[in-house]
Amino acid sequence: MTKNAQELKVLLSSPKKIVITTHKGPDGDAIGSSLGLLHLLKQLGHQVQIITPNGYAKFLHWLPGNDDVITYDGNELEANKLTSEADLIFLLDYSHLSRIATFASAVSKSKATKIMIDHHQDPDTDIAELIFSDTTACSTAQLVYEVMEAMAMTTYLNKAIAECLYVGIMTDTGSFKYASTTAKTHHIIAELINAGAENAKIHDLIYDNSSANRIKLLGYCLNEKLRLYPENNAAIISLTDEELKRFEFKKGDTEGFVNYALAIEGIKFAIFIAEKDGMVKLSLRSKGNFKVNGIANKYFSGGGHMNASGGISELSVNETITKVEIIINEYKSELNKTN
Ligand code: 5GP
Ligand code: MN
Repeated sequence: MTKNAQELKVLLSSPKKIVITTHKGPDGDAIGSSLGLLHLLKQLGHQVQIITPNGYAKFLHWLPGNDDVITYDGNELEANKLTSEADLIFLLDYSHLSRIATFASAVSKSKATKIMIDHHQDPDTDIAELIFSDTTACSTAQLVYEVMEAMAMTTYLNKAIAECLYVGIMTDTGSFKYASTTAKTHHIIAELINAGAENAKIHDLIYDNSSANRIKLLGYCLNEKLRLYPENNAAIISLTDEELKRFEFKKGDTEGFVNYALAIEGIKFAIFIAEKDGMVKLSLRSKGNFKVNGIANKYFSGGGHMNASGGISELSVNETITKVEIIINEYKSELNKTN
């Protein structure tokens, strides 16, 4: 980290044109880490633009600097220009260019120096010159803080940076409950609170600000759409496009639903399947040593972390359910291990 941090500090010592990129379907960590970094870079006198492949949930729109984000979808000309003229491009919260979808070719063609800050497995080391990768880190937001620390720049920490990084760490740790949450994470959170992050306000804005339709959709999922496979410690929740429309689905509305299936006693493997944007998306979650990133990669062209992964299916929702049932059966003995 230290040598990389010194190199980055040198790169940041004169004004640069900078583009910050993050993965498709940006979550709290993707947006929180990108905006946290943006607020640091702006204080250092750089010209900074965040470009996300597509849009994201409304519960993240209150974050300071949100208006400085543009989506690649719908702004291709402007985004291509900014990307090709950039001196530096940050790759945050992803480790393979496939994660930025149609934006990938503009990023790979750009002559900018690329800097990856990420916590996903198997980073593609060919896509960036400087790589800050720690697969044990709970979040990219924590890594952004650690990079600031390594560059001796925590003096720049202000309320805006603190709020953004707090959101990134909070959302990627399930509010500080996953095993990836360490003493270091709590120390960083303490620093963020000292710098002005109002923890109760942030939790409220992210978690207790749902539309009535979202809560009704959750009730519907749990009451009518939960399939349990108690003999294999697994559970599936699925939603079709028609069902999502019935509850006036908005981006982000189903975030976290998969965790309710995982909250059931004995369940070690939870799968959420939903038809979105003409595709079938899967969210896979697990407890303990049962690894879901391999499954996401092998069967659903996806990946992620050991206990939280995602992917897509080319099949219909019903056919995807059948495919997942076959997979559950295949992993039966592992799912029945006591660990
Ligand atoms: P979610 O289920 O919340 O969409 O995604 C959980 C995690 O899985 C994400 O943080 C990301 O690491 C990973 N992930 C989700 N979708 C994909 C995908 O399509 N491809 C890959 N490689 N990873 C994904
Ligand atoms: Mn993350």
